[in-house]
Amino acid sequence: MHDSRALLEYNGIEVTFDMGGLKVNALRGIDLEVYRGEVLGIVGESGSGKTVLLQATLRLLPENAKVRGRIFYNGLNILNIKEREFKKILGRSFSIIPQGFGSLNPCIRNWVQISERPMEHFGKSKEEGYNMASDLLGKLGVKNPSKVAQIYRHQISGGTLQRVLVAMGTSAPSKILFVDEPTKGLDERMKRLVIELIKISRKNFESMIIVSHDLNFLKEVSDRICVLYCGDLVEVCYKREFFESPRHPYSQALLLSLPSRGLLPIPGESPSMVTPPSGCSFHPRCKHSTTVCESRRPLPFLIDGGMVRCHLYARD
Ligand code: SF4
Repeated sequence: MHDSRALLEYNGIEVTFDMGGLKVNALRGIDLEVYRGEVLGIVGESGSGKTVLLQATLRLLPENAKVRGRIFYNGLNILNIKEREFKKILGRSFSIIPQGFGSLNPCIRNWVQISERPMEHFGKSKEEGYNMASDLLGKLGVKNPSKVAQIYRHQISGGTLQRVLVAMGTSAPSKILFVDEPTKGLDERMKRLVIELIKISRKNFESMIIVSHDLNFLKEVSDRICVLYCGDLVEVCYKREFFESPRHPYSQALLLSLPSRGLLPIPGESPSMVTPPSGCSFHPRCKHSTTVCESRRPLPFLIDGGMVRCHLYARD
């Protein structure tokens, strides 16, 4: 049974990269619902699999990646549908604020990249597309927006680039907005701008999925938080629970590493995805670890409308 509140539903998603004969499991069986009307924040260290989950959904993974499982959108398993059908969904129902410089084509003017979806999928003319891009850049605080719309990515500064990426994702309404590390490398002033923009944009999207390592940012914009560690979903809960009483020891450690909570580094190192630890992948860094944790991977345990994957809670 699909949850009627779910707009997008992940069932057992596994992503494996073939690195010249070496298999790397980037996601190890993700089950997750994205509800209608919510902003879902996905947090985790670099290499935890959060961007891979986004890329698997949007078919942006490289050729050496294999995706298993099912992703339902409106009851349709979008991993199974033909490319042409998927492109229609991508154009009209999904939009993305991508991460970084490499997401912009160096040979295409900024306005064309911003207005590609409105022109291709919503019947806007070139003139309307250009005006829309200039207007959007102006609203995002870009100085001389009509000139910036006309030039290319290498001719703009980092702050303006970020605004062009935000404009790309918000130039047309859609059901789900996917946002990948929107505050990476930004100063506080720009972060505030992105936060405001995401809040304003909520009305144009039924749901949003935001991948970020920035907990303070997610605290401002998300309704629920899900935590990834070494390709495993280890906790899903409402924002308030996450920031007030997180259950998983990794979530607790993440919070304690914030400057406002003591700036305590998480002990040990991020695990290798090639040879992940046995049992619970967090066990080498966890102060609660027992011999069971070293040998048995915990199962997800549903609790208070959320989920935690940890032997401290699961009675498995
Ligand atoms: Fe720590 Fe064990 Fe829970 Fe893993 S399962 S987070 S090692 S207590």
